Amino acid sequence: MCVGCRKRAAKSELLRVTVGSGVHGQPVVAPDPQGTAPGRGAHLHPTAECYDLAVRRKAFGRALRVATGLSSAPVGDYVAAAHSTAPPP
Ligand SMILES: [Zn+2]
Repeated sequence: MCVGCRKRAAKSELLRVTVGSGVHGQPVVAPDPQGTAPGRGAHLHPTAECYDLAVRRKAFGRALRVATGLSSAPVGDYVAAAHSTAPPP
């Protein structure tokens, strides 16, 4: 299920995200496009719409069980880059 729009979708349509560490050691939501990172993950449509919904609902913190201080900026950057003019890998 997508943590943004909360619709069910095939795993192949969703981006997996996990908890990682930012440059200052703070918890961040890290994109895991390969789906191989260990630990708790959440799934999100890789679109700006669903990312914004998830941020507004604080869905990342809830899904990833991080109460405070969680930055989702890396996923925002990833989603923005995925919709740039560059072709997908
Ligand atoms: Zn969605």
